[in-house]
Amino acid sequence: MKCPHCNSENIEVGLRMFESLNGSPVGFRFSKGIMSVVAQIHCDICKDCKTIVRSYIVESTDKKWLK
Ligand SMILES: [Zn+2]
Repeated sequence: MKCPHCNSENIEVGLRMFESLNGSPVGFRFSKGIMSVVAQIHCDICKDCKTIVRSYIVESTDKKWLK
């Protein structure tokens, strides 16, 4: 994978996003029965220019997403 910003291949993959204050995972909510669950955002980052090259979720996309 190449960074679209600086063309580097120095990419760190699979970092996850957390909220800084209490360390909760950051992501997209979907409903699961009566509960709502967060599909956590994962990112690949360029270690040379600090660009987030890719952000994605690992769960299947076939959910009842809460927008
Ligand atoms: Zn870069």
